[in-house]
Amino acid sequence: MNIRIFFVLSLMVVWANAVLAEPGIPLSEPDIKTWTENDDKGKDVHFMTIDGVLVHETDEAKEPQPPVVTPGTASCGDRVGAAPSDAVILFDGTEASLANWTDTKGNPTQWQLVDGALESVKKAGYIQTREKFGSCQLHIEWAAPATVKGSGQGRGNSGVFLMGYEVQVLDCYNNKTYPDGQAGALYGRNKPLVNACLPPGEWQSYDIIFHRPVFDKVGNLQQEATFTVLHNGVLVQDHVFLSGGTGWRGKHAVWPYAAHADALPLQLQDHGNPVRFRNIWIRPLQD
Ligand code: MG
Repeated sequence: MNIRIFFVLSLMVVWANAVLAEPGIPLSEPDIKTWTENDDKGKDVHFMTIDGVLVHETDEAKEPQPPVVTPGTASCGDRVGAAPSDAVILFDGTEASLANWTDTKGNPTQWQLVDGALESVKKAGYIQTREKFGSCQLHIEWAAPATVKGSGQGRGNSGVFLMGYEVQVLDCYNNKTYPDGQAGALYGRNKPLVNACLPPGEWQSYDIIFHRPVFDKVGNLQQEATFTVLHNGVLVQDHVFLSGGTGWRGKHAVWPYAAHADALPLQLQDHGNPVRFRNIWIRPLQD
């Protein structure tokens, strides 16, 4: 082989490896093909396929219609909203839905059902779903205790853990703490864009779109997790690539990624404060 061609090919391989190994880059891109044909009047007609399907295809055998979903309704104050028709209901205020949750050992949870809400109980530990999830859309509502106690990380602290990655729950209404530990933060990794907290005691919502991290067979990270989070309808995490784990590792450190299964229980944190949750539903997503 010509030495110059060999050199250029080697550079291309190095470049391809560098790009493919970059955790923030998608693992696969759509296959797009374009071509031009003449119509019967000799005019150019441009064609394009994406992953083998013609753009603007109307044949349902080739491009099926999206499934029909009946949308839910939003909560308003004490009036609890409804989930979309295809969601998995994880908690709807009933005793029956409490059975979807256990402690981290699979035993019945000690958290309490109070006025149709699930309330964290000090020293009862985290709770988790019996079912396991990976990439998903999650809706969850929470309220910090109406009686304000403590400050900083000690006020209305809990957390929503997707595969162990925490979206922080904290009473940040007139309560300062480090930015990457605020409500809506990816704890220790990414602060929220804004502070959209409502006063303690009021119901607040998180809508989270999460894509799980991907690991190869020997546990190397192939693709970082991504998070989009709306807090009370306000965007606070905008398709953020999560740079690693969110677990506390000391005053100024969190843990790096560690390989795990493709699906894990959803968890809620007991941080010693009686934070309440309600109207929890989830829609599993394709990776
Ligand atoms: Mg927390």
